[in-house]
Amino acid sequence: RFITLEGGEGAGKSTQLRALAQALRSRGLDVVETREPGGSEGAEAVRALLLTGGADRWSPRAEALLFAAARADHVEKTIRPALQRGAWVLSDRFLDSSRAYQGQGALSDADIVALHRLGSEGFLPDRTLLLTLPDNEAAQRARRRDGDQSDRIGGRDSDFHRAVASAFARFAADEPDRVRAVDASGAAEDVTDRLVATLSDLLP
Ligand code: C5P
Repeated sequence: RFITLEGGEGAGKSTQLRALAQALRSRGLDVVETREPGGSEGAEAVRALLLTGGADRWSPRAEALLFAAARADHVEKTIRPALQRGAWVLSDRFLDSSRAYQGQGALSDADIVALHRLGSEGFLPDRTLLLTLPDNEAAQRARRRDGDQSDRIGGRDSDFHRAVASAFARFAADEPDRVRAVDASGAAEDVTDRLVATLSDLLP
């Protein structure tokens, strides 16, 4: 199975990805943990291009193409081979992040989905877990982690992050079978339990 974790900065995706991977391993599953941008050698090289050099390094179209290119390599080199041998793959971000973030720029949601069709044959997760937190709590957590670097692509304000959050919420409303919102507040172990429960129909 291919599972993605999505949400804004500070929602606890990386911590929860690790904890969820452990929970699934304890049920005897072979689990591969990966992330975007990155997750394969080529895609990690693209990640370095995307996350350094400041807010204005890339035009919005170029940025969207780089994310799509990184994802194409990630799917081909890491995700598909792991699924083929029967592993579960957990990815920290995937297409929905591009739709939520790059979708605020020069490209429409349909454009970003079209790039994904070209790059990765429209490959989609079996389930997407959307970690949700109230705006202020997310911003606080992200600042605690990263200081002023909390948005590493940079140059974005709280309006941008609110728009990202509402885009994610829209995906959950439009594709309720695939995209499930999970409350990310409270104790980390409780959040992990909620994530596992949201996968219960897919577990062997
Ligand atoms: O996942 P993480 O919070 O570490 O994201 C790294 C950075 O990349 C963040 O600043 C996030 O906003 C940005 N990002 C993006 N578009 C994506 C994926 C991540 O702007 N498709």
